[in-house]
Amino acid sequence: MSKFVLIGSGLAGGLLAAYLGGRGYEVDLYERRADPREGNIVGGRSINLAISTRGIHGLEQIGIAEEALQHAIPMRGRMIHDRSGALHFSPYDVDPKKCINSIGRAALNTTVIEAAQRYPNVRVHFNHKCTGVDLESASAGLETVEGAVTAQGDAVIGVDGAFSSVRKSMQSQVANFQYDESYLAHGYKELTIPPGPDGSWQMEKNALHIWPRKSFMMIALPNPDGSFTCTLFWEFEGARSFGTTKTDDDVRLFFEEEFPDAMPLMPSLLDDFRNNPTGSLVTIRCAPWFYRDKVCLVGDAAHAVVPFYGQGMNAAFEDCVVLDECLEQFPENRERAFAEYFRRRKENADALADLAIGNFIEMRDKTASKTFRAKKKLDHALEAALPGMYLPLYTMVTFTRIPYSAAARRARLQDRILYAAIFSLLSIGILTLAILLGRRS
Ligand SMILES: Cc1cc2nc3c(=O)[nH]c(=O)nc-3n(C[C@H](O)[C@H](O)[C@H](O)COP(=O)(O)OP(=O)(O)OC[C@H]3O[C@@H](n4cnc5c(N)ncnc54)[C@H](O)[C@@H]3O)c2cc1C
Repeated sequence: MSKFVLIGSGLAGGLLAAYLGGRGYEVDLYERRADPREGNIVGGRSINLAISTRGIHGLEQIGIAEEALQHAIPMRGRMIHDRSGALHFSPYDVDPKKCINSIGRAALNTTVIEAAQRYPNVRVHFNHKCTGVDLESASAGLETVEGAVTAQGDAVIGVDGAFSSVRKSMQSQVANFQYDESYLAHGYKELTIPPGPDGSWQMEKNALHIWPRKSFMMIALPNPDGSFTCTLFWEFEGARSFGTTKTDDDVRLFFEEEFPDAMPLMPSLLDDFRNNPTGSLVTIRCAPWFYRDKVCLVGDAAHAVVPFYGQGMNAAFEDCVVLDECLEQFPENRERAFAEYFRRRKENADALADLAIGNFIEMRDKTASKTFRAKKKLDHALEAALPGMYLPLYTMVTFTRIPYSAAARRARLQDRILYAAIFSLLSIGILTLAILLGRRS
């Protein structure tokens, strides 16, 4: 049986190792960090994430969805906080049972790694940092505390995230490898709302909280211990930005003005703001995602997206499902399997990248408006009135497995039909009024 060398035991790496292990392949998974079960939190990334239909499907296929979701918290809609502290709830779907789930990154990471380790043919090696891959020989150079070692496989899979070392090797060794990275002008910082004195949640537990402030925003997702993890998305530079907010007084003033209802719930705000890193937000597109039958990229290594649709990990899990299907379809021809996986996923990853950037504007700006809430109500009314015919874009992306590119195309078509229908109705109304007025005079 072929041997796969996987680089990176993050969310997708653990899950993919479990899929490959289940197919009977020999798998060696190398991770630069220490074992997350030894308390090594996956630093620099969000503490919790929203998992929805695509991600849950990826877990279900190997029978670990229930185990992974046991501590997840369902979020049924957006809770919008305006500057005065007034709250507006906007459900995600017409069906109240459809929700996204807040899940801890470290716990989910542990669940997928343990699922992989249940297969005796999967071995996980922590504290092994990949320094580069030789594509022709499918071998990876690794740095360990004992010195440099080489891992040899029939194929190497880069599941090593947005700043993938495997992808860097492809960039330098594959002729005409396409690569594009673009950073938002915004960065992000995680902050905390601790549990109340009785250990309960200090805001609505089953919602994703948003403080939309036009050019920036803060969000908060609930954790099982009664706390919320808040993420402030704000410009790096500018008159009022991360760059100019240096002192405790600056931070206090900014939060008092912009988030007056959240600030009293954040006793560690000043420490968190000072000590937590400010992360950057990158979109990465590249092609191809494979080199012959030797190397392949999965998850953020192939397509990092900004987090505003809550789909990066969901899409990475969907990659694992599709790659597994392709390996099943072409068991004797790995290059064909890699090529088919790339063909099925690339346009969808590109579509998601665009959707995610578009949703940033929607979340930070439009969610605050009455028009947005009215459009959501109309979306839900149409979805209920035209079951199976009309599906809002958010519903297709979050609660179905319709490919991202098909969902984006269908939403554009629906909008065109909707606007044409509204325009026709208005025209008929105006014409009727004109005829009636004409008859009177
Ligand atoms: C602020 C924020 C919020 C987010 N929220 C959501 C959300 O709500 N829902 C959602 O679906 N997605 C969300 N995402 C996106 C999600 O985090 C990623 O899409 C997901 O983590 C991708 O998984 P991955 O396994 O491809 O990469 P990663 O999770 O980044 O894992 C990569 C792994 O590779 C290891 N590694 C890296 N380099 C090497 C090396 N040289 N050698 C060995 N190992 C290496 C890393 O240590 C890591 O363990 C969010 C992202 C951010 C930044």
